[in-house]
Amino acid sequence: MSDVLVKCCGCDTPVDPHRAVCPGCGHCLCCGRKRARPEILQCVSCQTAYCKCCGRCPRCLSLRYSEITEPCECGHPDRPEVIQQLIDQWSVDRPLTRWERFWKR
Ligand SMILES: [Zn+2]
Ligand SMILES: [Zn+2]
Ligand SMILES: [Zn+2]
Ligand SMILES: [Zn+2]
Repeated sequence: MSDVLVKCCGCDTPVDPHRAVCPGCGHCLCCGRKRARPEILQCVSCQTAYCKCCGRCPRCLSLRYSEITEPCECGHPDRPEVIQQLIDQWSVDRPLTRWERFWKR
C-alpha cells in the first residue's frame, strides 16, 4: 500500500488506488464499472450512515465497500501497471514542480 491518493473519475473522491472499488460511488477505479450491488448506506460495523460524498463512516471511520476485494473484470486492482497509470493521471498530491516548491518556501 502507498499513501498516494487518486481522484475517482466518477465522483472526485480521493481514494487509495489499490482499492478495487471507490467508497464514494461504488464504481471500479479503473474502468468505472459499477461493482457495489446493492448499494450499502449504513456502516456494517456500527450502523451509522456513511458520508454521502466520500463513503466514510463518521463514527468508526471505516470505508464503504471495503469488503469488495476481488478484482474487477478489467483486472483492477491486481495489475501494478494500471495502478501506476492511475497515479500518474489522477494523483491528488502529485509531487510539486520546481516553481511550486520555490514559491512555497
Ligand atoms: Zn467514485
Ligand atoms: Zn474495472
Ligand atoms: Zn464525505
Ligand atoms: Zn462505522
